[in-house]
Amino acid sequence: MKKTTSTTTDLKLINRNKVYRYIYENDKVSKQDLVRDLGLSLPTISQNLTELFELGLLRYAGKFESSGGRKAKKISIIPDARMVIGVEIKMDHINIVAIDLRADTQPSRRMDNDFEASDSYGKFLAEAIEQYIREKAINPAIILGVGISIPGVLSEDKKNLINAPTLKARQVPIEALTKYITHKTFIENDANAGGFAELHSRKDLTALAFLSVSEGVGGSFIFNGVLYNGMNNRGAEFGHMTVVNGGKQCACGKFGCLEAYISTSMLMCGKDRRVETFFERLKAGEASCKTIWEEYLTFLCMGINNIRTIVDCDVILGGTLARYIGEYFEDIKKRLAGIAVFDYNADYLKLSNYTSNASAIGTALRFADEFIRTV
Ligand SMILES: [Zn+2]
Repeated sequence: MKKTTSTTTDLKLINRNKVYRYIYENDKVSKQDLVRDLGLSLPTISQNLTELFELGLLRYAGKFESSGGRKAKKISIIPDARMVIGVEIKMDHINIVAIDLRADTQPSRRMDNDFEASDSYGKFLAEAIEQYIREKAINPAIILGVGISIPGVLSEDKKNLINAPTLKARQVPIEALTKYITHKTFIENDANAGGFAELHSRKDLTALAFLSVSEGVGGSFIFNGVLYNGMNNRGAEFGHMTVVNGGKQCACGKFGCLEAYISTSMLMCGKDRRVETFFERLKAGEASCKTIWEEYLTFLCMGINNIRTIVDCDVILGGTLARYIGEYFEDIKKRLAGIAVFDYNADYLKLSNYTSNASAIGTALRFADEFIRTV
């Protein structure tokens, strides 16, 4: 008997979720659309709509034009019925952002603080999140969780940060970072989160390699819509492919890694360390910047070409670099076509859809996705 009850409950939930997802995916729908396309009876549809309205997840959004008879009401989801917070941990600051169920974002907030594996840093994170929630006047009760992205390799169970060269951290228990946060948390490697955000924003792709170029260089590989993490949770760490035997020392301690050549910290002329300044000077035609850029591009293209050769799918270029290279993008593609063995052009290379906060958004999306799949 018990089994039958649970099966009936499961079926009810499955039907309710079908109704919610149909409305989510089709934006504005009528009750008749639901009956026609979901193959459920009118009473079942009506019952589920009542429940979803009572949960505060749906609204009426006007009426459809009618060619005769009563005009049908447009039913739509309420995107900000639930919110998710995304946090990007960087070496010397964090970025916090909030997204709704449609992945629309609230303006982000940067807070400066050097990363350290300490109790006080854990408190800083929790307080920064609470402050942001207050500033944006988000009702804490509708927050699904806090997604945190971190530039490092995590253990399979995500309980331990094994190695994060850019943060100069090894073997940090995640609990130490999250224990003061009062919401549910989910932590993820930053490039994996960035790759997931790209996948989410590109409905036409099921496979992609994401190359994130900031101070640190990371990557992720998604195949059939699923992240491929490798056997040790460190797959697609493109930044640590060797590109020069015995070359420059990398933040990881080894020599000749791609990161040592294409980290944005390489883009510096004079004493000003800002990437923005480098591109201003490059644009102004400064000779020393041109020389640096020329060498930089050689390695950037080498890295991208190697990735493409291995994975044979679109490669998305993201991270801080993506913010500045719009006007050099065609040149980069031309260079890539020139060194490719199998490709005649480099249309496989795409610029990230996110100029900032990709990994914060990507990790927050995990909560939003789960909610949409299970509500
Ligand atoms: Zn390295």
